[in-house]
Amino acid sequence: MRTLGLIGGMSWESSQHYYRIVNQEVRDRLGGLHSAKCLMYSFDFADIEELQSAGAWDEAGEVLAEVAARLERAGADGLVLCTNTMHKLAGAIEARVHVPLLHIADATAAAVVAAGVRRVALLGTRFTMEETFYRGRLAERFGLDVRVPDAAGRALVDRVIFQELVVGVVRDESRARYRAIIDGLAREGAEAVILGCTEIGLLVGPGDCAVPAFDTTDLHARAAARWALE
Ligand code: GLU
Repeated sequence: MRTLGLIGGMSWESSQHYYRIVNQEVRDRLGGLHSAKCLMYSFDFADIEELQSAGAWDEAGEVLAEVAARLERAGADGLVLCTNTMHKLAGAIEARVHVPLLHIADATAAAVVAAGVRRVALLGTRFTMEETFYRGRLAERFGLDVRVPDAAGRALVDRVIFQELVVGVVRDESRARYRAIIDGLAREGAEAVILGCTEIGLLVGPGDCAVPAFDTTDLHARAAARWALE
C-alpha cells in the first residue's frame, strides 16, 4: 500500500472527514484490520485565509510547496490537498515534489462524467467559482459545461463557507439558501451539482438537492485511497 500525504487544515472541519474516508475505503477494500497509511500536515487556517484575502498567492504557493516537500521527505508516495480552492496553487506544489498530486478536480470530474452528466453546477469559494483554475480544468480536460450562481448567489455561498462552515457552524437558514441556489441552477439546465468546497458536505447532502450532488471531499478521499491500493 502506498502512503498518502494529506495537506489539511483548510479547514480541519473537512480534513477530519478525509482522514475518516481514506481509512474507511481501505478497510472496505481490504477488510480485516486494514487501514490507510497516511501522514497529515494540518495548517492553521487563519494564516491561509489571510494570504487568500490579501491575494498573496505566490507566498501561499511557497508555503504549500514547502509542506508538500516535507511530506515527501517523510515518506508520502502521493499528495492529497484537502481543499478545492488551494488547487489554484497545484502548479507550485507539483514543481517542488517528485510524487504526484492527486488533483481534486480530476477525481470529481471522473465521477461526473461516469454518471453521464455534462452540464454541471459548481458551488465553492469565490476563487473556485470565479477563476479558471478549477472550472477551466473541468471544461478543458473533461468537456464539462460548468454553471455557477449569479453574483449575489456566489457571494452568499462564499460567505457561508468562510463565516460558518469552516468554523463548524451549520445553520438551517443557510441550507435553505444553498438549496434555493441549487434549485435555480437546476431549473436553468444543470443536470447535477458539484459541492466544490470540502466543507459544503457539512451543510447539504444528496437529499437536499433537486439534482444529483457530487461531494468533492468524498470523491477525492476515495480516489486517493484507491490510488494507494493500486
Ligand atoms: N475547504 C474549502 C475548499 O474546498 C475552502 C477553504 C479554503 O479556502 O481552502 O475550497
